[in-house]
Order: sequence, then structure tokens, then C-alpha cells
Amino acid sequence: MNPQFEAEVIGAEQTTVSSRSIRFGRPEGFSYLPGQFIILELLTGGADGKAAGISKIAKPLSFSSSPTEDHLQVTKRLTGHEFSNAFLSLKEGDLIRFSGPYGSFTFQGEHEKIAMLSGGIGITPLRSMIKCCTDRGIATDIVLFYSNRAEDDIPFGDEFEALKGKNQKLTIINTLTRPGPAWMGRTGRIDAKMIRELLADYQERVFYTSGPKKMVEAMQLALQELNIPASRIRKEIFPGYD
Ligand SMILES: Cc1cc2nc3c(=O)[nH]c(=O)nc-3n(C[C@H](O)[C@H](O)[C@H](O)COP(=O)(O)OP(=O)(O)OC[C@H]3O[C@@H](n4cnc5c(N)ncnc54)[C@H](O)[C@@H]3O)c2cc1C
Repeated sequence: MNPQFEAEVIGAEQTTVSSRSIRFGRPEGFSYLPGQFIILELLTGGADGKAAGISKIAKPLSFSSSPTEDHLQVTKRLTGHEFSNAFLSLKEGDLIRFSGPYGSFTFQGEHEKIAMLSGGIGITPLRSMIKCCTDRGIATDIVLFYSNRAEDDIPFGDEFEALKGKNQKLTIINTLTRPGPAWMGRTGRIDAKMIRELLADYQERVFYTSGPKKMVEAMQLALQELNIPASRIRKEIFPGYD
């Protein structure tokens, strides 16, 4: 069993219209690999802990932060449900509890060339990996196919643009499924045709895909269509969004 940690929330902000991030201090002795997750425990029924019917609820959340950053960060898609609302109410100074780190969906430069296929909230472990590779100057060639609904709902969109300036090995292919009239970029979902068209060397890459079950399953089908063997596909499924 992994040890439990307590930490203080040091920041909370809206990441996009539908997602929010909280930052918390890194407890002494805690370390993790880019892409890993924790089980975050929150109290509901009264943020001050005094209200009647208080209960503890816990959910797995991937780190969106990188081990190269001093703070820890998780980013949650807001669903209006119990845990999500408790997450939304977190503010600076609140205490949270978590266990971990868990998971083997990690990357720290093991391959020369990778491609990442993701969308929406599925980006969290990939943001962790991309930031880590950039900060550590890892030479892996990374192509991120990044699908989102609309311009105001691209988690870490501006940050990725900035990271491209620091990491010559990073390419980001944004695609929107419901763009506004001013969007000049690519549209539609990620599929085998898009990958084949934009990634001439797809047969040489290891693929990382993460997010809601339907999204990851669609990416797996696309990769099967491209004859990518299962041994070159790494995945992390976020249940609870279908
Ligand atoms: C390894 C791992 C990493 C993950 N990382 C992330 C991450 O980085 N960010 C992130 O946002 N999520 C992540 N998740 C998913 C996360 O753990 C939750 O499952 C997800 O956020 C949904 O939780 P929720 O409390 O908002 O919704 P829940 O209340 O759990 O709802 C989930 C589903 O249950 C049903 N449901 C429950 N209550 C109601 C209700 N009152 N009315 C109608 N339907 C209801 C709905 O079908 C809904 O879609 C991860 C999951 C795993 C396993």
C-alpha cells in the first residue's frame, strides 16, 4: 500500500471553461514519474468540516505537473457531481490528502520518437511528460495530436505554444471539433487518415494515448488500422466520462 500524504493547496485556477487545476505543495519524501497519478481524497458536505453529513470521497487523478516543477498539480474536468464540486471549491490554504504515486503510463525519454494522441482532459499525463522532457532537454522527437471542442476549451493550449519555443523536438497538431468562425486550423477528430497524412514516419513511433474510454478506444482502432502493433501503444483510460 502506498503511503498517504497531506498537503496544502497553494493555488487553484480555471484551466479552461470546463476544467480546473489545483496546485499543492510537494510533501517531503514524495517523488513521482511524469504521467503517474494519485488518489486524491476530499471532504464533502461542508468545506469547513462542520456541516452535517460530511463524507470522504476519493478519485484517481493524473499529475498535470512535471517532476521538474516544485509544486504538484492536478487538473479535473468539471462534471457537476459530488467530487467535482468539492474539487471546485478548493482554495488556497485548504488541506488535501492523497496516496500514490501509481501507474506505469510514464515517459522520460525511453524512445527516440513518440506520438501522443489525446483530447480534452486526457492531456494531463501528457502535459507532465512534455514539460518534463522540455525541462530536462530530452532529445525525443514528440508529436502531439491534440483534439478539443473549441478555442476556449484547450487545456494548457497557450503553454504548449510557449513550450514549442523551448523544445525544437516538440510538434503540436491542434484540431477542433466545434471551432468558432475565426479558427484557421485543422478541424475534426483524430483518425488514421489524419495520422497517415501528417506523420510520415508513424511506423517508427511509439504511441501514447490517454483520456476518456471512448477516446482511447477510438485511438486504438485508428492505430490498428495503421498496423501499429500493441507493443508500441501505451494507454491510460480515464473511466467516468462516458
Ligand atoms: C488513472 C486515472 C487517471 C485519471 N486522471 C484524471 C485527470 O487527470 N483528470 C480528470 O478530470 N479525470 C481523471 N480521471 C477520471 C477521474 O478519476 C473521475 O473518474 C472523473 O473525473 C469523473 O469523476 P466525477 O466525480 O466528476 O464524476 P462521477 O460522479 O464519478 O461521475 C461519473 C459518471 O457516473 C455517472 N453519474 C454519477 N453521478 C451522477 C449524477 N448525479 N447524475 C448523473 N450521472 C451521474 C455519470 O454517468 C458520470 O459520467 C482519471 C482516472 C483514472 C483511472
